[in-house]
Amino acid sequence: MEILSKVTNSPEETESVGGELARYVLANAESFVALYGDLGAGKTAFCRGFVGVISPDAHVCSPTYAIVNEYDGGDVPVFHFDMYRVESEDSLDSIGFYDYFGRGIIITEWSENIPYALPDRHIKVKIEKLSEDKRKITAELITE
Ligand code: ADP
Ligand code: MG
Repeated sequence: MEILSKVTNSPEETESVGGELARYVLANAESFVALYGDLGAGKTAFCRGFVGVISPDAHVCSPTYAIVNEYDGGDVPVFHFDMYRVESEDSLDSIGFYDYFGRGIIITEWSENIPYALPDRHIKVKIEKLSEDKRKITAELITE
């Protein structure tokens, strides 16, 4: 089921689409958002807007090196993962990925790297670079 489809023209617009999805996630008690898109597509920008709605004082940055950033400032914790460096199920286990399930909202960058780890029910967000400043963002509810 399609949740949204938008074209944005700036990082700020992508952030506000992230915020829109966060309101949807809160209203519908969803708990897992999987982001897809190349380097520089705008995944971290999207997360900034998403987390900003749930945990307003959060300073959102890319968790590439830490793999996970946790934002506890809102009613529900958000766990922001970057799977760029995750190459095997062993490395997911070693960061305790599955222990985060059920503890809050999970949002993952580079979901391409963890197809086997996605829960049956999740929101799939694709960000495509149309030009230097234009992005196409689609969000879809997957229930399998
Ligand atoms: P990713 O996490 O997918 O690698 P980032 O969010 O870190 O991407 O970076 C996106 C880059 O693209 C930033 O440099 C940002 O300024 C630029 N950009 C240009 N137009 C847009 C847009 N419409 N949406 C998001 N980012 C954009
Ligand atoms: Mg990123």
